[in-house]
Amino acid sequence: MIESLLIANRGEIACRIVRTARRMGVRTVAVCSEVDRNALHARLADEAVVIGPASARESYLNIGAILKAARETGAAAVHPGYGFLSENADFAQACRDDGLVFVGPSPDAIRAMGSKSASKEIMRTAGVPLVPGYHGADQDPAVLQRAADGIGYPVLVKASAGGGGRGMRVVERADQFEAAVAAAKREAKAAFGDDTVLIEKYLQRPRHVEVQVFGDSHGNAIHLFERDCSIQRRHQKVFEESPAPGLPDATRRAMGAAAVAAAKAIDYSGAGTVEFLLGQDGGFYFIEMNTRLQVEHPVTELVTGLDLVEWQLRVASGEPLPLRQDDVRQDGHAIEVRLYAEDPGRGFLPQTGTLNRLTMPAEGPHVRVDTGVREGDAISVHYDPMIAKLIVWDHDRPAAVRRLTKALAATVIGGVNTNRQYLLEIAAHPAFAAGEVDTGFIDRHAGDLLPSSQPASDRVLALAACQVLIERRAAVAAAAARSADPWSPWNLTNGWRLNGEAVETVRFRDGDAPVEIAVRHRGAGWRLTLPGGEMDASAEAEADGTLAADLGGRRIRAAVIADGDTVIVMDGGRAHRLLRHDPAAAAAQDTGGGKLTSPMPGKIVRVLAKAGDTVRRGTPLIVLEAMKMEHTIAAPGDGTVERIAFQVGDMVEEGVELVAISAT
Ligand code: ADP
Repeated sequence: MIESLLIANRGEIACRIVRTARRMGVRTVAVCSEVDRNALHARLADEAVVIGPASARESYLNIGAILKAARETGAAAVHPGYGFLSENADFAQACRDDGLVFVGPSPDAIRAMGSKSASKEIMRTAGVPLVPGYHGADQDPAVLQRAADGIGYPVLVKASAGGGGRGMRVVERADQFEAAVAAAKREAKAAFGDDTVLIEKYLQRPRHVEVQVFGDSHGNAIHLFERDCSIQRRHQKVFEESPAPGLPDATRRAMGAAAVAAAKAIDYSGAGTVEFLLGQDGGFYFIEMNTRLQVEHPVTELVTGLDLVEWQLRVASGEPLPLRQDDVRQDGHAIEVRLYAEDPGRGFLPQTGTLNRLTMPAEGPHVRVDTGVREGDAISVHYDPMIAKLIVWDHDRPAAVRRLTKALAATVIGGVNTNRQYLLEIAAHPAFAAGEVDTGFIDRHAGDLLPSSQPASDRVLALAACQVLIERRAAVAAAAARSADPWSPWNLTNGWRLNGEAVETVRFRDGDAPVEIAVRHRGAGWRLTLPGGEMDASAEAEADGTLAADLGGRRIRAAVIADGDTVIVMDGGRAHRLLRHDPAAAAAQDTGGGKLTSPMPGKIVRVLAKAGDTVRRGTPLIVLEAMKMEHTIAAPGDGTVERIAFQVGDMVEEGVELVAISAT
């Protein structure tokens, strides 16, 4: 086994590789640019070498500097990750020439697959089905035009050396072809230094289904099943899942066999991905092979239970593949989403800034988080703006989709705009739930996915209010259980008052608009005053987090997710996001210094905590009644209550200290 490994990459993939290497007892060396000196990947590795300035060209793409770092640290092998130099045959060759093991296929295999045109020729010979098209060396405009006319429009012009969707043009009509080719060639030349293009039939609403393959240096090749990456924005993957929803078993087997044939055709060793388009006719067609680990490899890991980086290191060390084809199982369903610092409201413009809040869902058998950043780190202009990958697993697809919405709801990122809400809208969309995935998904549902200017309906507001009221009820009940006199009327949760009817208020912010809902207690439920009128409501939270509500006599079950300051209501196939807006709590928070002061003159109607209690951010501590409304004073952060200065019934002035908390 390789004893030491230099990771020629950064971010989440470098961190992910360190994890497996460490588990296998392999010493790790990170390389980093000057701005990445304190980056997570550099911190996690056993050793880190600064190889150049921030610009990737001078650091992560600098072959000379990387090889020098390998020599100086005595690394025996190099893992290129994905992106950067991972598909650079010259780099693989240079590693070999320096006596280093390159964790990946041979330079020849990388070269063979590096050109979409040349790889198609190899695949055609190996009997792998291709999208009808032209991938010849003759780039004469007249030849290309004739080829396109022969294929029939629409056609897709692609940069042969392309990647990441660049250098691609859809051409609808013959008279647009010449201009489109010229544009694609310009883009390809600038991005890849090679303006060779190929032409393919443009399939209508295909699915992108790819097969993970693995080969070793003993002539074995197998596949680890498929991933469906059809949900794309501008030809770039946004969601990836395994298995592909609704894929007939016969097609799955045929695709697996074709992918293995592709790997064998080039004596493939290591991890690779054979990408296909699945047409609406049920046929599948090779588009390209990626000769590296993919961003979306974790979904394969979660359904097969295998560690692909471990396999890569074993194969690179000369071991045979750990399993035979028949021993590989696809179990349950996994979905991955990519969280980016970008602004969906402004054309998905990449965002830069400091991640002043980064709370990811807790990891476990159902949730995996792959990230290369911590709270306080910066998303800079120099590198990819991906913040994290969120991967979920469950026994079947509907359960995995539910896990995903919950995990996304539990993700809190502050400091930069992100696509989190956008991902949540997709995850909550009925077409996604129905498995209606193809590459046209995002365009088709665009209107549903971006934040709407429509205010939340009364029904959505009522569901959100029920969630908040249930939480308050639970908090009061918990406080009553702790208090000396559990039967005190002050601990009743039904809004009991000595004189008159109590009005409680639930406040939200819906986009920019504040919403105030007055609540009167009615038996086990509430009468809500909503923007559209009064509504009687009652609700119970079920064990799986679903809210079972009765709204004006109609029984409704909806997923309502409380997530810090946010309440997300899944209703009518859309995720509605409301911010809890409690001016009293906000005023109290502003005082800082662990003291909570009274935001206005009023009467203390409930005391829900006592000195010595451990509280979490958002735990209600005191309820103040002022101007016939109740205002809950909640803990601004996690901590211990030092003292509570008042008792129920006390009148307080504005600005006096109500509670002191010491932070934990
Ligand atoms: P890149 O290497 O730039 O990512 P690919 O060849 O892998 O380019 O294609 C990326 C995406 O573009 C595919 O997943 C698919 O959505 C779309 N695409 C590619 N070829 C075709 C085609 N012939 N017809 C329709 N869509 C296509």
